[in-house]
Amino acid sequence: MNPVFDYFANEDLYPDLDWDAAAGHLSEAIRCRTINHADHSLTDFTEFDRLQDLMRRSFPAVLQHGTFELIGHAVLITIPGTDSSLRPCLYMAHQDVVPVVSGTEQDWTNPPFSGAIADGFLWGRGTLDIKEMVFGILEAAEYLLSRGRSFRRTAYLAFGDDEETLNLGALSLARTLEERGVRLEFVLDEGNGKIEDGALFGAPQKAISMIDLMEKGYADLELSVESTGGHSSRPFGGSSLEHLARAITAVTGAPFPARLPQPMRAAFEALAPHITEEPLRSLVQDIPANAAEIAAYCASRPETFPFVTTTIAPTVIEGGSSACNVLPQNMRAVINFRLNEGDTTEQVMEHCRAVIGNERVYLRYLQANDPSATARRDGTGYRLLTEALQTFFRDVVFVPAMTTGATDAHQYECICDTCLRCSPFMAEAEEVRRGVHGTDERLPLRSYAQGIRVLIRLMELANL
Ligand SMILES: [Zn+2]
Repeated sequence: MNPVFDYFANEDLYPDLDWDAAAGHLSEAIRCRTINHADHSLTDFTEFDRLQDLMRRSFPAVLQHGTFELIGHAVLITIPGTDSSLRPCLYMAHQDVVPVVSGTEQDWTNPPFSGAIADGFLWGRGTLDIKEMVFGILEAAEYLLSRGRSFRRTAYLAFGDDEETLNLGALSLARTLEERGVRLEFVLDEGNGKIEDGALFGAPQKAISMIDLMEKGYADLELSVESTGGHSSRPFGGSSLEHLARAITAVTGAPFPARLPQPMRAAFEALAPHITEEPLRSLVQDIPANAAEIAAYCASRPETFPFVTTTIAPTVIEGGSSACNVLPQNMRAVINFRLNEGDTTEQVMEHCRAVIGNERVYLRYLQANDPSATARRDGTGYRLLTEALQTFFRDVVFVPAMTTGATDAHQYECICDTCLRCSPFMAEAEEVRRGVHGTDERLPLRSYAQGIRVLIRLMELANL
């Protein structure tokens, strides 16, 4: 794989955009510590106020032509279109960021909330996830509106405030639009942001980038066992730890089957001409007939395994005894599931109850979402996004795919059949993996500028 900049094209377009000012806005945004805790009493909402003030100050044309509303702490900007027969588009991202793991602050080259601009990068928490998209969307809209360009389609710029925790901001934004009778042509949300080697799909040396059509479901299943403890010499019936351990083993010992979901079928279809490695090269000649074999092959490899099955990850265990000769009292564990297309949280619960088969183990969901719908790729949204991306990234195959993580986009499914997840701010794949939620999160300035160009182009195409 070449360095990511080798794939950049048409960087000379929109030369009149003030790129230094754009970097300055994002730098200032990074300095707002918009960490939203699930327990809101811990959240400092004045940091969100600062971020929103920055939006209002920095994008006068957006504020002049659009209406700026707060739904709770979520932002909804409506830029009215001139042609009401066309469906609106919605460009989204989230204002909140994850905290810096305590004790790792010193490991950062530049402090995480400094917004430092150094060595060709913008540094800090939120430069990859995902203030660059919030401010990139605003820069793109400002660029067009300040030059007298009008929008034929109404554009919504929608920025939730709690994507990393509860997703309620995006939910209330979507409900507000639903109540107003809005049906959207497409939604563009965060996702991917990498150009990668196609080796993952049996197409080594081919640069690929994914447009995610769906996101897997998410469930935190709590398992708890009650016990009053006692002397470890009298463990009749088994300790709470034993019951819990057996339950976890029962669940992980009964994995969900491998199945090729629609977005992965689409990915293999798009890549088929480039796949050179066996067994995939032969298998993708007839994807419908070989779907089970392709799924089984993907399931055998660590990188592709999460794309073809509901994954099971025990993550939390609490309540073990601190003394070797004392039986533990109440204990709990959490297993995190990421659900494949076609599986539901209800089925996962039933499955776990059946394989555990122990009434002493009490099961409940702390949080549970079914997998999202799969976005259309035969409509306007997918076509325009691909065209905008191809303008600015050469020799890259854009591939429909899915995300194993969770985003806000699914909240808009009630009013949109084309929720696309793709950040156009392409950085080195390894850097993105390390930086998102990690140490030394940073975005190359060139990637920031290039992503803004994609968004401007997309807004132009959507309003031709
Ligand atoms: Zn994010």
